[in-house]
Parts: sequence; C-alpha cells; structure tokens
Amino acid sequence: MTRASHSARNFSVIDHTHDAAAKSWVASANGHAAFPLQNLPLGVFTIHDGPGSLATAIGDQVFNLTDANSAGLLPEKFRYVLSWTGLWELLELDRSDLTELRHALFALLAEGAERQPEAERLLIPQAKCKMLLPTRPPGYTDFYAGIHHAENVGKLFRPDAPLLPNYKYVPIGYHGRTSTVCVSGEPVRRPKGQLKRGDGPPEFAATERLDYEVELGLWVLGSNALGEPIPIAEAGQHLAGVTLLNDWSARDIQAWEYQPLGPFLAKNFMTSVSPWLVTMDALEPFRVPQAPREKGDPAPLDYLAEDEPRALDIAIEVSLAKAGKPAVVVGRTNARNLYWTPEQLLTHHASNGCAMEPGDLLGTGTISGEGGDALGSLLEMSAHAGSAFLEDGDEVIMTAHCSREGFAPIGFGECRGTVTAS
Ligand code: MN
Repeated sequence: MTRASHSARNFSVIDHTHDAAAKSWVASANGHAAFPLQNLPLGVFTIHDGPGSLATAIGDQVFNLTDANSAGLLPEKFRYVLSWTGLWELLELDRSDLTELRHALFALLAEGAERQPEAERLLIPQAKCKMLLPTRPPGYTDFYAGIHHAENVGKLFRPDAPLLPNYKYVPIGYHGRTSTVCVSGEPVRRPKGQLKRGDGPPEFAATERLDYEVELGLWVLGSNALGEPIPIAEAGQHLAGVTLLNDWSARDIQAWEYQPLGPFLAKNFMTSVSPWLVTMDALEPFRVPQAPREKGDPAPLDYLAEDEPRALDIAIEVSLAKAGKPAVVVGRTNARNLYWTPEQLLTHHASNGCAMEPGDLLGTGTISGEGGDALGSLLEMSAHAGSAFLEDGDEVIMTAHCSREGFAPIGFGECRGTVTAS
C-alpha cells in the first residue's frame, strides 16, 4: 500500500493536516483523545435552541463555522454553503472541496495562525452546546455487512448454514426511514407492535426485546444521475465521512414481521447517530487493507472489485448504563469486521442506477467481532450468556477511536440514547 495509490484511488492523501506534530492554538486540542487539530469533524450546534450553526470540534471547544464564514475567515468559495443551518449544502460539494475546507480550517486553527485573535472569539465550550442532526438525510439505507454479526444471528436460526448463499456475493441491505434518524441524546421510546408469544395469535404490545445495533453511518457526498451507476473507482469521491450509528431494534416485532420482505416497524421507530461527521480525509491514515477473503469465498463480482480494497480501522466500544448505575462496557469491536468496504456498499447501492443524493445515510450493519466480548447487539449476547434486553431507563453509549503509530489518534465523540417507557 503506497501513499500515491491512496490519492489515485480514493481522492485522499496523507498531507500536512495529518502531521502528528501539528499543534493548535486551542490548548485543549493538543493531545485531545477525540478532537485534535488532525480531526476537524463537521457538525451543527445550537446554544439557546435557536437555528443551527455549522461547526467543527477542536479539543473541548466548538468552533463556529457559520460566524467564521460571516467574518470572512474562510475562503470565499464556501460563502454560500456555510450560510445554511445544516450540512446539506456542504454535502453537495466535491471531495476536493471538502479537502480544501479542511485545509482552510487547519490553517486557521493551527499554532501561528495570523487571524487567531478573530478566530478565538468564535470558540464555545462544547459543554454549552446542544448538538443537532448534521442534516436530515434524504435517504437512509441499512446494510448487513458485519459478517460476524450475520453469522451469529444466522446460527440462532440455522446452526448448520448460518450465512445464506447470497451473503458473500451481495452486500445485503434494506431501505430505512429518514424521519426517525435522530442525533445522539434523543431518548428512544419503547415501541409497541405485534408480538407473538408462544403458539397463540399475536398481541399488540410494548416490545419486550428492545436491542441496540452497533454500526457506522456513511454520509454520501454529491450525487449520481438516475440510471447512472457509481463505478467502484469513483465511489470514494461520493463519501463525505462517518458517524456512529445505533440501529435500535425490537427483536420480537422483527421475528414476527420480517418474512418475506425484511425489517419494517421493528427498526424504523428510531435510528441514532453521533453528531460529528468525521471526514474521509481525517480517516485516511486509518484505512487499512481489507482482510483477504477466506479460502473458498467467491471474489467480488467485477463491478465491486477493487485493486486495493480498504477497510476502516475504527475501534468501537459500546457501554450500557442500567438505570442510575455507572456505564459498563459490554462490547468492543472494530469496523475491520465489515465484509464489504464503504466504497463497495455505495457502488452496490447505485449499481442498478439508483440515484444517491447528498446527505444520504448508509448504515453498515451491526459490527461484531469474533469473540464473546465483541458483540454488537444484545441478541447475539443472549445466545452466549442469556443476558436480558434493554429495560426502561437503560442508556446505551457508543464511542469510537482510531489510532495508528506515527499519527495523532482521533475519535468520534458519543452516540447515546436512553430508553423510556412506551
Ligand atoms: Mn442494522
């Protein structure tokens, strides 16, 4: 894997903005576990429930991009897209534009920046900000690319053949609902639905098997015309960045409704995402070669074949806080456990000519690892330890970090949600 090939294939390069030695004049950024100068994620915040302002996170501060734009601290070409109350217009741009914006932010927030005195006034402590959904996605799709999750769940139903014959050929997915995509912190209300307890007829009642699913959300950049696929070599141009995603699931509703068309009301009552979109540029040092497929696995069909498929090396942790008790880590996993790359998921989605739109959200599917401590849902844990599903008052907290020798570690912040009674 060479650096030159990164730039040719994925429209990202390792450059001065990834230099581990680079420091910010924002003191808390230097050595910050999630938001050092090398991250510069994009998000939207409000202070007094007013309209959203665009922002980047730097250390324990939020830097107001909307005001920086008004003050002329950012390049003129971003004047329009930064004048909105959400990220959507920014996601209409090209990958090279996002890189240019990253460079401008880096220059403004790095030690020795000429306009530091003006920029300093645009910092607000993160603790004072309420984060909003970056933008309402026009479309939301959830994949099923976590192979260990697919195997674990498959084993519950088909011990001999956990994976269906299509799994290693088709990136499996279904269309979700965008009206219920929420930002971290929104409570999840226990949904009601049809449940079948035992052999009797189904009842309409509150779910007794409420679960989380540890996933990543991929945010689409730009668009393709209806009828025009996105070639695999261009897919990287159409990915803006990544957030954490919790695909809340009601397992009893799911078990009764899912055949023959797949998940419906068991999934669409709520999906939570973390507020900071970590850009593909920031993630560039943490792209690693995709694990080779097992012997006997089919090669991807041509339209999904990449010369150098690259996984995201993102370590993800999920914790559970039972009502009033401290949070306990219940799962540790890594996005390297995805069977398909982000580029393959997007290319597959558009391969029939489906028009992707700026700000579309693609869930990766639950990311579990191989061990019993690396499970991305309670459904899988129930098979191991007989553990219970979520109770009212339980809070689920997902966090994620990237680290690689020679680079500054970066993080994603949190994706939280507390269960409330139905
Ligand atoms: Mn899911």
